[in-house]
Amino acid sequence: MRTHPVSRQDELDVLRMVLEEQYERHRTQLALLARQADRSGRTTVGAESSATVTAVSRRALGDLSRALHHLEQGRYGRCQRCRTDIAIEYLAHRPVARYCPRCEVAPPPGSDRHRTAGTP
Ligand SMILES: [Zn+2]
Repeated sequence: MRTHPVSRQDELDVLRMVLEEQYERHRTQLALLARQADRSGRTTVGAESSATVTAVSRRALGDLSRALHHLEQGRYGRCQRCRTDIAIEYLAHRPVARYCPRCEVAPPPGSDRHRTAGTP
């Protein structure tokens, strides 16, 4: 019996589906909220909270489209600071993660002596 190890590429393909699904969901939500706003016309009780949802969805859409763009370029899943591959397990929980868990908690570049040169 031979084991068939799942390659990182296979797992990235799964993450792509997750990203695309989330992208669609947020886009649908934004469309619905926009339609609701059109219909009510004026400020209603729920307007404030729906504005918050809209802002959250907009930001999520931006993160998701960036992640999908990186996937196309083959840069997805790599830490933007230290350039190491981010663990799939970590990406599964945070598909739009730009940094590995270590860099995520690290202080911003410039504040530490050890920094990698060159930002894309
Ligand atoms: Zn890193």
